Amino acid sequence: MSSQTVFISGATGYIAQHIIVQLLSSGYNVIGQVRSSAKGDTLSKDFNNKNFSYEIVKVLEEEGAFDEVLAKHPEVSIFLHTASPVSFHVEDNERDMLIPAVNGTKNVLASIKRVAPQMKRVVVTSSVVAASTFAELEDPTYVGGENTWLPITYEEAKTSDSQIAYAVSKKYAELAAWDFVKQEQPNFELSTVLPGYVFGPQAFESGVANLNLTAAYLASALQLKKDDKIPAAGGLSVDVRDIALAHILAFENKEAAGKRLVGYGNRFNFQQVVDIIRRNFKDLVNTLPVAEFAPDFFDSYVPYGDVESRKALGIDYIKFEKTVVDQIAQILDYQNKA
Ligand code: NAP
Repeated sequence: MSSQTVFISGATGYIAQHIIVQLLSSGYNVIGQVRSSAKGDTLSKDFNNKNFSYEIVKVLEEEGAFDEVLAKHPEVSIFLHTASPVSFHVEDNERDMLIPAVNGTKNVLASIKRVAPQMKRVVVTSSVVAASTFAELEDPTYVGGENTWLPITYEEAKTSDSQIAYAVSKKYAELAAWDFVKQEQPNFELSTVLPGYVFGPQAFESGVANLNLTAAYLASALQLKKDDKIPAAGGLSVDVRDIALAHILAFENKEAAGKRLVGYGNRFNFQQVVDIIRRNFKDLVNTLPVAEFAPDFFDSYVPYGDVESRKALGIDYIKFEKTVVDQIAQILDYQNKA
């Protein structure tokens, strides 16, 4: 059991809540950053643990935003920066996505260097989209990942669709973190975590009422009708419980320091999602469409430049079927109680 104190930004998030649950159960003290006291109070009630407290920072992108809260907590030795806009629909890509992601990351790191020189480890949540070169769309065996970067620029993202802008926000936020470490030589060691699509149950059943972007994407399978066409969509996926663990191992494991940690357990497509639901929830067999095909490469592990990450993290990833079943079961339970 650890008695160290971890500060986590974006504590209300889908992934962050799982990270906090796991940290608390390992004995860490946790301080979560939120944007309002109402959100902090809800979290405190949910976690119901004397080792959890929260601090309010309303605007990530304001210079020095984290100075006050970090100065107040000299006991913090680990910082997990998960807060970032997660949306594919924003009004203004630069204002609503790129600036909070990139400047938010720069601010966190500058505040740490300025007022929290005791910080030992920092983990920044990036995304596999920051490493995507798009070559894998043509060649599913292509290995991108730990050493590759999305070839789209900040300028291009200002006017791109919001989905692209999200990916670019993750790229430049992560690059800003690595540049900071190179230029500023702070006392802490950095790791970044690059998750695939994150799916799986909410940390608390109440979260089902307000699913984040990716959990809602998986849950949208339940809205399909018998004659609907199943969306031809898919990608790399990881269970939320595994990616939460990856954030913890990213600072606990010495060999994870200084690394980009690509985190995904499976390749999936939406046909598989529907198949898994029909196979495991008998009441839905006749309401959902029948999957027409599932390309082979989605069924197996194809390395996505994650060989070093797997060595550093050593996670035995949860199978996609379990992720889907656990998430859908939680939603159906919640709906049955309503
Ligand atoms: P989420 O549930 O939507 O959480 C996002 C968190 O960031 C929330 O705490 C939110 O606070 C905060 N946030 C959003 N916009 C903000 C802004 N402009 N200023 C300050 N805080 C802001 O999403 P999540 O899936 O847990 O994502 C957490 C991290 O993982 C993000 O960095 C995301 O890019 C990354 N990631 C997610 C996935 C995925 O599939 N879900 C995959 C790869 C990477 P409020 O509650 O106050 O809005």
